[in-house]
Amino acid sequence: MEDVAILGYGPVGALLANLLGQAGLSVAVYERETAIYPLPRAVHFDGEVMRIFQSAGLAERIAAETRPSSQGMHFVNAEGQTLMVRRGVEGRGPQGWPNNWYFHQPALEEILREGAARFPNVTVHLGREIADVSELDARFIVGCDGARSLVRRAIGSRQHDLGLHQPWLVVDLLCNAAAPRVKALPDYTVQLCDPQRPMTVVNVGGERRRWEIMLMPGDDPARLTEPGIFWPMMARWLGPDDAVLERATVYTFHSVVQEGWRRGNLLLAGDACHQTPPFLGQGMCAGMRDAANLAWKLKAVLRDGAPDSLLDTYESERRPHVETFIELAVKLGAVLQETDPAKAAERDRRFSAGAEMFDFPQPQLGPGCRADGPPPVGTLFPQPLLPDGRLMDEAIGPRFALVGEVALLADRQHGAVALPGVGADWLAQRGLRAALLRPDRYIAEVA
Ligand SMILES: Cc1cc2nc3c(=O)[nH]c(=O)nc-3n(C[C@H](O)[C@H](O)[C@H](O)COP(=O)(O)OP(=O)(O)OC[C@H]3O[C@@H](n4cnc5c(N)ncnc54)[C@H](O)[C@@H]3O)c2cc1C
Repeated sequence: MEDVAILGYGPVGALLANLLGQAGLSVAVYERETAIYPLPRAVHFDGEVMRIFQSAGLAERIAAETRPSSQGMHFVNAEGQTLMVRRGVEGRGPQGWPNNWYFHQPALEEILREGAARFPNVTVHLGREIADVSELDARFIVGCDGARSLVRRAIGSRQHDLGLHQPWLVVDLLCNAAAPRVKALPDYTVQLCDPQRPMTVVNVGGERRRWEIMLMPGDDPARLTEPGIFWPMMARWLGPDDAVLERATVYTFHSVVQEGWRRGNLLLAGDACHQTPPFLGQGMCAGMRDAANLAWKLKAVLRDGAPDSLLDTYESERRPHVETFIELAVKLGAVLQETDPAKAAERDRRFSAGAEMFDFPQPQLGPGCRADGPPPVGTLFPQPLLPDGRLMDEAIGPRFALVGEVALLADRQHGAVALPGVGADWLAQRGLRAALLRPDRYIAEVA
């Protein structure tokens, strides 16, 4: 019997396979398809997710195939007025890496799969559709099986609908870098809040750019990529001489969170337990955070004698965290997707004093395996560079750690590795002297 069976080998299942493989657990992955999903989906992940890839030993490999960016995301109306900006972050962000990365999802999934292949204790079964979880023989079964999750049905989770359901056309274009109109495209992400036709424009990297185009009444989804229909929609940006259409599909964007991420030995992660409209570029990121939260807890229960109830803290911690992101994405969607010209004009007047600036949320985990206190307890500890040039997590490894004042930590080794001096300034600014970090680098307790 395996320690863990993972159902679904999308990005979340593939990352989880890496993290569990690295932890020395025996893992079997089952995936219906034989090839990586080819249609356009995620293009952005954040610094926290790069830090998780670092913990899986894959950061350098992924950084080489991914575009880091210090730029933000601009909500702009049809006349070019900037309404809102999600700020960019210059240089090395708080996670020890640039805070925004743009990528081609099939290329990322390929690297994650190569990563999982490093571990002889991970076996992958492609082309294996699972019709019933009773086919799987493992101590724990994790459903990373996407929006139509089979494991979710077996758990009997309850769906909470956060209200946004809207079809969009999603296309990737391969652009001619020498074309003047391509050169004129902004490097930052644009959310075009045009009531005639809301759109998102992203520089994915290399010659590839992403357009997400909201469907309007009267659109025939099957015909939107016909040249006579597609290029007039793109007229503001590019024409047929500037780019070729690489791939396209229509999705309905959803905003839902499931209640019930665990029943007995069944667990959920990724789109199987939450879906967000992509206006913050955070859907996959949330799934990667699920994997990072769950991986160390599964190892603790299966190998280190932690009580089984530790796994109940997975949903109690993660669900409120992901809800914060989805609620913000829904609010941004209401700004972007306004199609009534009068209401759009009223919206634009609200921002006439200047653009509203915001950052990604940094929510506290819900109650669980952490002290019962205000932030920064339950939030992510930053990743400083150490004097020896290493990033902090390299010095810690996948375990608990005490960081903070030299005087307080110099002699202390309570099973957790102690790093005296590390993060002391960050803590002092918050009136604190030391912090206990969990293997996923969230703060369990402060002194
Ligand atoms: C247009 C668009 C843009 C997006 N942009 C972003 C972005 O910029 N940033 C971001 O973070 N996220 C973004 N997302 C979200 C992101 O793409 C998803 O959250 C992510 O791909 C979900 O990964 P997953 O592994 O949970 O599920 P999936 O990728 O859906 O994988 C599930 C896998 O399970 C397999 N499976 C299902 N059932 C079975 C079964 N019974 N037996 C065997 N195998 C099974 C499926 O074949 C599939 O391979 C975007 C999504 C869309 C649609």
